[in-house]
Amino acid sequence: MNPIWHKALEFIQAQVNAENFTTYFEPLHFVELTGNTVQLEVGDAFFRDWIQDHYIDVIRGALLEVAGEVIEVSISVSERTAQPKTTAESVLHPTGSPTPTPISTPARSSSKPRATASAEQTPTVEAPAMVLNPSYTFDTFVVGDSNQFAHAACESVANHPAGAYNPLFIYGGTGLGKTHLLFGIAHRIREKNPGARIAYVSAEEFTNQVIDGIRRQEMDRFRTRYRTQCDILLMDDVHVLAGRDRTQDEFFHTFNALHQSHRQIVLTSDKFPQEIPGLEERLRSRFEWGLIADIKPPELETRVAIIRRKAERDHIDIPDDVAFFLAKQVRSNVRMLEGALIRLAALGSLTGRTITRELVKEALSDVFGDLQRGPSIDGIQKLVAEYFDVKVADLKGPRRHRAVSHPRSIAMYLCRKHVQASYPVIGSQFGHRDHTSVLHAFRKIERVVTTDTRLRADIEAIERKLHG
Ligand code: ADP
Ligand code: MG
Repeated sequence: MNPIWHKALEFIQAQVNAENFTTYFEPLHFVELTGNTVQLEVGDAFFRDWIQDHYIDVIRGALLEVAGEVIEVSISVSERTAQPKTTAESVLHPTGSPTPTPISTPARSSSKPRATASAEQTPTVEAPAMVLNPSYTFDTFVVGDSNQFAHAACESVANHPAGAYNPLFIYGGTGLGKTHLLFGIAHRIREKNPGARIAYVSAEEFTNQVIDGIRRQEMDRFRTRYRTQCDILLMDDVHVLAGRDRTQDEFFHTFNALHQSHRQIVLTSDKFPQEIPGLEERLRSRFEWGLIADIKPPELETRVAIIRRKAERDHIDIPDDVAFFLAKQVRSNVRMLEGALIRLAALGSLTGRTITRELVKEALSDVFGDLQRGPSIDGIQKLVAEYFDVKVADLKGPRRHRAVSHPRSIAMYLCRKHVQASYPVIGSQFGHRDHTSVLHAFRKIERVVTTDTRLRADIEAIERKLHG
């Protein structure tokens, strides 16, 4: 094994818990280090995406640490690579077959993986084997106002498949727990009925299987799998079907077959059905047949609860006030929140420091960069220029015509109000103006804004954009 990768792995091992390390990092197969890119291989696309979504920064960080320079990471899918270790519990076999059916490309002639030893019975378009993340259960899902409805709907469907809500359509922004809930359904159904044939498939994977099926002339097999050998279909991220007509057609028929025979369908999407562009009307209307539940970004209390729960799980010691502080900084999405917590814990254990607000600031400043830093002079200049339809160069330039001097004054005012920068620093960013012109502009706007409603409306509109 390459010494840098070896060291990086050791570094990662010290940061993540043992279970995560065995599940996600051990199976990574080192291929080569060329230039400043490490090439890794994994067993399937799901696993690759998983690493991309959850651990790529951990890997990059480790490489940076051991190599002392930025090393890019590229992960490809190969059938040669061992599947991530899974327990019997964590793999669903929708076809009831005793061995996991890996989703793989055809084996290269020399080194066939063991799983394909019984090649004759193994369909080329593989059954949708599913690595169930053991931690994505209803129990580990923190419920708050933002996701209560979706959570309840999922529980109801898991307890009574093909009952009142079919299909169940969950939509919400990225990183808000859609996949987690989908897996929660799978876990629950599996618990209650181990023989249930559950198919989890992302719409992306479904598309690939359609393409493969067509190419290999194995559509019959594909159809049997989804239309007759499946009791519960969990399809993730259906918004990616947008514009993929052939796949939509196939899915339409799959949907009908399952629905007609009273089998449960659960779909997730990052958009409401009406808002998915390039989605056929007949699918759109079917998506609306059952129940549509949305997930919103979690409110502060829920974010704090999520941090507490994850910290507990990973044995991270985080004081309440720091959890609160972190939750205030990272607002948009739970995946980011988790990432921030992991980085925070890593930074803490690497430097031997306790987790404090200061450490949060440090951990976030590296990773989230501008996102967390709040408004910048540059940012304000861009927004103001856009709002008044002038060029940023005009704001910095010498022209004194009111069409540019007015936006310029507003921009200076906003910089002083929202950026922790001195008058001279602001002046220097506006074409090296003297600090007195900034001071002058600030005072003038501050005075006029109290009486001039138009000006106030303009400023408020820009400020909304600044914070949104
Ligand atoms: P999506 O599929 O909506 O993009 P995921 O289901 O992948 O989001 O969630 C992203 C991460 O956030 C996952 O690790 C998931 O466990 C976690 N997560 C999201 N919402 C919650 C929640 N309410 N409670 C606990 N963890 C959550
Ligand atoms: Mg998802």
